[in-house]
Amino acid sequence: MTAASGVWSAPGRVNLIGEHTDYNDGFVLPFAIPMRTTVAARPADGPQWTVRSRETGETIVIGESDLAPGAVTGWAAYVAGIPWALRDAGHRPPFLDLSIASDVPLGAGLSSSAALTCAVLAALVDLGGLDLPRDEWPALAQRAENTYVGAPTGIMDQSASTLCRPGHAMFLDCRSGDREHVPFALAEHDLAMLVVDSRAPHSHADGEYAARRASCESAAATLGVAALRDLAEADLPAACAKLDEVTARRVRHVVTENGRVLATVEKLRGGSVTGIGPLLTASHASMRDDYEITVPEVDTAVETALAAGAYGARMTGGGFGGCVLALVDADAVERVADTVTAAFAERAFNQPTWFKAVAAGGAARDE
Ligand code: ADP
Ligand code: MG
Repeated sequence: MTAASGVWSAPGRVNLIGEHTDYNDGFVLPFAIPMRTTVAARPADGPQWTVRSRETGETIVIGESDLAPGAVTGWAAYVAGIPWALRDAGHRPPFLDLSIASDVPLGAGLSSSAALTCAVLAALVDLGGLDLPRDEWPALAQRAENTYVGAPTGIMDQSASTLCRPGHAMFLDCRSGDREHVPFALAEHDLAMLVVDSRAPHSHADGEYAARRASCESAAATLGVAALRDLAEADLPAACAKLDEVTARRVRHVVTENGRVLATVEKLRGGSVTGIGPLLTASHASMRDDYEITVPEVDTAVETALAAGAYGARMTGGGFGGCVLALVDADAVERVADTVTAAFAERAFNQPTWFKAVAAGGAARDE
């Protein structure tokens, strides 16, 4: 085995605020985390991509005939989807041997999937000398996930994994694609973001996600708007009167959540980081009561973190488990994490894991 021609990596992400707003043409505010997926790549001997994942312990060979959605399934579909999407867009991706390793936990809501697709994309674009501006990477990686893998994600994860900057969160308008890098250097404010992985079993998440999307689409149709993004908070009373009680609450979550993203961006632009705390907590209440996507584990983590002194806390990610983030004083991270861990033990939940999330940079060549 010859040495790798190079090593590329792309990060996972945390969404600071803006949940289930992406597919409603709304606003999100993710930041990249220091955990990354690394791809060591070298030219292949033949017309194929040989992919090894340290995490699965498997090696899969992807041939040219596999470049059709459905041909490769399982984890290797996230890899095969990239040369497929590149070819579909008229590029000639190079044949490579790829060795993958990740410290983004898989399936924890930190977007290990986008970290994988974007790291593979970075390697193929760079080694192949492909003419694909970085601005176009998110849509291409999203297409790999949506169409090749069959996972209905919005564009947030891939945008964060490719375009985020260290010390900044990325304010993304999912309708226009406009984005702004908003200062989010917590250490300068003696603050830290604690991320707790609840490790709650993710039951029914796919079906519930599809159901939420469907109710948003049907509400938009009933209300005569292109997407729920087109509603303002002032429109809510009239809009909700035309909807059944459950759908009205779903709409209220999306509309108020968009407002909370805008308010969070305003606070951060103005340098008031602790000022975002109440917005984070209000987002959680909205996900719990109106969108109904939380579970006892994440509610417990949020309540416990707040009781232990967090400025704000919320579940992050699609819901039904996953991670909670809590904005805390820099010197309180361990104490708050220990308090949450103890609360989980008391309730006989799975033991959570935690880390301190610093806003990191997007996909890059490492070696
Ligand atoms: P998340 O993106 O929140 O981690 P997803 O369900 O979207 O959760 O993506 C997780 C899937 O991505 C895994 O089940 C696996 O198929 C694939 N994956 C991610 N990272 C790796 C890796 N390092 N090796 C193999 N497969 C991976
Ligand atoms: Mg994912």
